[in-house]
Amino acid sequence: MDTWENHDVIVVLKRGRDKSLRNRHPWLFSGAIARVEGQPAAGDVITVVDYQMRFLGKGFFNPKSQIRVRMLTFEDQPVNRDFFRERLREAVQLRHEWFDETRTNAYRLVHSEGDRLPGLIADRYQDYLVVQFNTAGMYRLRGELLALLEELLMPRAVLDRSDLQALTHEGVAGETLPPDDKLPDRVEIIEEQIRYWVDIKTGQKTGFFLDQRDNRRLIREVSAGKHLLNCFSYSGGFSLAGATVGATTVSVDISEAAIGLARDNFQLNDISPDDHHFAVANVFEFLRGLDTAPDVIVLDPPAFVKNKAHLEKGARGYKDINRLAMQKIAPGGYLLTCSCSGLVDWRLFQQIVFAAASEARRQVQIVARPGQPVDHPVDIYHPEGEYLKTFLLRVL
Ligand code: SAH
Repeated sequence: MDTWENHDVIVVLKRGRDKSLRNRHPWLFSGAIARVEGQPAAGDVITVVDYQMRFLGKGFFNPKSQIRVRMLTFEDQPVNRDFFRERLREAVQLRHEWFDETRTNAYRLVHSEGDRLPGLIADRYQDYLVVQFNTAGMYRLRGELLALLEELLMPRAVLDRSDLQALTHEGVAGETLPPDDKLPDRVEIIEEQIRYWVDIKTGQKTGFFLDQRDNRRLIREVSAGKHLLNCFSYSGGFSLAGATVGATTVSVDISEAAIGLARDNFQLNDISPDDHHFAVANVFEFLRGLDTAPDVIVLDPPAFVKNKAHLEKGARGYKDINRLAMQKIAPGGYLLTCSCSGLVDWRLFQQIVFAAASEARRQVQIVARPGQPVDHPVDIYHPEGEYLKTFLLRVL
């Protein structure tokens, strides 16, 4: 066995259960497996064959996960340092095709399955890199992967913020690598002339909602000189998109730390936070008590549906905030409404928004329906990778 592959293991599928792999779907579920030859450890790279022992692909084995193998390749090729270097190079190239320093110095460099690197996340913030190794296989290879990322990108420092809860689900009692002394607590980034502090060490996700970049631009386009209410504001991304074009903004978040960061972000752009409003509050209650009519409202809540058991309750949550926002918004106003729940697909989200509109008794037009930005690509063979859905609505 080499560092990279366990050549002694073969996973043999049941007859007729090879279709999803032939369709290049990267997840192999345990139910499709007839037998495992050899003794794989969690995270080993192993070979998968069909019932007639014909090669199907290679991937990370994990005995503790229902996703028993996370496929890395469907070609009969070695999986080694060169393999991962090439995958990383391909991922980085996509971002270089779309971003340069005049536009932004913050984007997702590696988006897990979307870049055919299941479990690996790497976000660039200025000269720093924040990484996550969220599957058993990626976790095992983290030393090698870090070395490759450093070779390719030469960051000033790297911070490991692996999702330990995700790793627990993978059966790995993980720990993150100790932070480098060169890492500041906050990193300043720039995106289309707007500066933001990113709290890389303790902020949400890896510190910033990179996936909302295109929507921030939309808000910039519709909110010049308007009253903008930004619900679930976190560090004020949408608020600043509006404030920099002269909107009067209200930012609402339940987290005091988030609102503190949002205020600091206003200051960073020489906009006095005292000319704007910030509320540490529950959005549901805030919207119910609202007695003004904003021209533009952003609803970007956390994922209300984390698993199938929460589908109904989560859907009700989405409907309630959308109804409340539609009831309060000024005639002709714009509502940017998002769902980042993977289990709520476009169809369902549109149905929820429909129900909200109908209950609010407002006339509503869909004027744009953006999804994920280019640095969060979706592998066509892995539709589960599409999680972010947005409707820009005009509410009459
Ligand atoms: N729109 C943000 C990201 C939102 S993340 C951006 O673009 O940066 C979701 C945010 O909702 C988190 O900051 C979390 O603190 C906040 N939150 C969660 N539940 C909430 C609630 N009931 N009321 C207000 N804020 C809430």
